[in-house]
Amino acid sequence: MSARIIDGKIIAADLRGKVAAEVARVKREHALVPGLAVVLVGSDPASEVYVRNKAKQTEAAGMASFEHKLPADTVQKDLLALIAKLNADSAVHGILVQLPLPAGLDSQVVIDAIDPTKDVDGLNPVNAGRLATGLPALTPCTPLGCIILAKTVHASLQGMNAVVIGRSNLVGRPLVQLLLNENATVTIAHSRTRDLPAICRQADLLLAAVGKPEMVRADWIKPGATVIDVGINRLPTVDGKTRLVGDVAYQEALSVAGAITPVPGGVGQMTVACLLVNTLRAACAIKGLPKPAV
Ligand code: NAP
Repeated sequence: MSARIIDGKIIAADLRGKVAAEVARVKREHALVPGLAVVLVGSDPASEVYVRNKAKQTEAAGMASFEHKLPADTVQKDLLALIAKLNADSAVHGILVQLPLPAGLDSQVVIDAIDPTKDVDGLNPVNAGRLATGLPALTPCTPLGCIILAKTVHASLQGMNAVVIGRSNLVGRPLVQLLLNENATVTIAHSRTRDLPAICRQADLLLAAVGKPEMVRADWIKPGATVIDVGINRLPTVDGKTRLVGDVAYQEALSVAGAITPVPGGVGQMTVACLLVNTLRAACAIKGLPKPAV
């Protein structure tokens, strides 16, 4: 048996198409142009690539993109002043500060300063708290993408045993809340969990967000389970280059899992698409319009 491969590339393209259609509709019907501001401090090459990609996809969806590049020696006060300006700017409906920030800047203070209605990364404690109490919230993009991917395999996640490995604010914790909202029965595992393989073997839906290359082995997976691999890890190759691998030993997992996301080409594809979803939702909410159809 070989697992069904959950193709994030196709699913993300479909989602971006739906966002673009809704953006065209709110423009036509309400003269609303959703706008996303991305703030990059410093010149980390990986972050620059992410920011460029976000801007490209935002414009392709018909939204306005505002890029703010600040030097690495920017002081906290100046960054907070920019956030205040973006909070007050009616053309901006989503604000994303590219993390990590250079040393000397306190990312939590910066995240706290973002207007929760424009917090399209879903990291502000107001949104995290709303999500945890079951209220409507802007939710972090990667976990949102994981749920969409899982639901391409299972029409409903209700009653499924879901195991999430990892409890970061960015992925693991919000993922648990989203799974609870889907009525899954959720176990959250982390670095202090005892007998992790045995816990994973209980999972109908196994979601790994750890950052440890190929940690989850085939014999940790319940036969037929759906596996969502969030991990993005670089391994050196013999020719001196690197290759991307997930947190799951993909090749061996293929023969046990029922469905699995590849790395690359799985969850990573969904994150920016979900950022577009959040920007559209934020714009509609700020304008007092009903939730869009995506
Ligand atoms: P993180 O903040 O470092 O959190 C890692 C989590 O894994 C922690 O909760 C940690 O437990 C747990 N952990 C570490 N070692 C473990 C072990 N041996 N057994 C069980 N749990 C263990 O990382 P993150 O930001 O959540 O990201 C996780 C992975 O997802 C990374 O590879 C990252 O690159 C990737 N990622 C991908 C996307 C995407 O778009 N696809 C987006 C974000 C992140 P403790 O809490 O006990 O320390």
